[in-house]
Amino acid sequence: MTAAAAHTPSAYPLDRIRADFPALAQQVRGKPLVYLDNAASTQKPRQVIDTLADFYRHDFANIHRSVHTLGERATARYEAARETVRRFLNARRAEEIVFVRGTTEAINLVAQSWGRANLKEGDEILITAMEHHSNIVPWQLVCRQTGARLRVAPIDTHGELILEELAKRIGPRTRLVSVVHMSNALGTLNPVKEIVALAHARGIPVLLDGAQAVPHLPVDVQALDCDFYAFSGHKLYGPTGIGALYARHELLEAMPPWQGGGEMIRTVTFEETTYNDPPFKFEAGTPAIAEAVGLAAAIDYLEGIGWEAIAAHEHDLLEYATARAGEVPGLRLIGTAREKGAILSFTVDRVHPHDLGTFLDHYGIAVRAGHHCTMPVMDFFQVPATVRASFGIYNTRQEVDLLIDALKEIIEVFG
Ligand code: PMP
Repeated sequence: MTAAAAHTPSAYPLDRIRADFPALAQQVRGKPLVYLDNAASTQKPRQVIDTLADFYRHDFANIHRSVHTLGERATARYEAARETVRRFLNARRAEEIVFVRGTTEAINLVAQSWGRANLKEGDEILITAMEHHSNIVPWQLVCRQTGARLRVAPIDTHGELILEELAKRIGPRTRLVSVVHMSNALGTLNPVKEIVALAHARGIPVLLDGAQAVPHLPVDVQALDCDFYAFSGHKLYGPTGIGALYARHELLEAMPPWQGGGEMIRTVTFEETTYNDPPFKFEAGTPAIAEAVGLAAAIDYLEGIGWEAIAAHEHDLLEYATARAGEVPGLRLIGTAREKGAILSFTVDRVHPHDLGTFLDHYGIAVRAGHHCTMPVMDFFQVPATVRASFGIYNTRQEVDLLIDALKEIIEVFG
């Protein structure tokens, strides 16, 4: 067993996984790169990089409207990618998977299509106090357009959702509950199954923002019973510019298109246009074809490692990092929920998070420093920003040690 694998659950193929990620082999500022910014975006394995390159080398053409061989091949691979995402989320049918640019676009699609068609003056959208801006602002926009209003369920000082308070806010005017599955700022894993049950008991649909959840745990939209589920490929070791919205077929059928153009139509005259069936009704224009194929390669790659193994490895890293963080003088963890994914958000007395992030870069350590697109969370904890170390499938306990040792040194000099 190598040093890198010394503490991880015995069967986890950490060295092999690290070797799959060319970007990890580099030095930054003369030090081996320690990449701990996975919640912002993950690095890509050669299986994804090679799939993109091979697709462009051999199979690329525009899709769905070609009669030639390359067009047919590209269409088949794009639709096979949709089937891979269906399997990944355990959706009932491939038509329930709409390819989008990412989580942000998925939520905007629901707000502008479902929201504009279903919201009236005085209606309410219920979210939580730990949402990413992309699960706040699209709702504010549609509230302004329709006269609906946004309600917010509070969190406690551990960064946990107060479920009874959420339940209290589900009322006769609630039209949709939209909740983050795993918080990017705090790591909190929300009790999404209970939230769905609470909302469904009142006949209210639920959207789950799965941007942070999908890289860490298996997601089954049928078991969760959610109505919408959104995620981004780039946080899942896949390409940028591609993600998916899962929506129940009957919802997609009833929803109007939100962008007009090619592909989403059946017939067009200047007087009237009829629309294509879902999911095509929501995929106007030429989509991110190669990126969808690359996303499917990323999903295949992760399934090859296995979700249980990934979850166990990342849980070990989080536990280890949380314990070692206690050694750093003046370090305050932001986000101490009982159910957490592999995110360590913190502040340190007397050193601004942005300065810490910059100093850490001098050690070759990449972390995020900022508000993480969750300004209300920063306000709640009364901090301007946090440093966030977020772990992925390729991180090691040694890297946690490097982070903690670097923090101790920085604080000794500047704290
Ligand atoms: N929701 C959460 C919880 C996120 O972490 C992110 C990305 N930081 C998003 C939504 C938005 O994802 P994207 O930028 O890929 O659209």
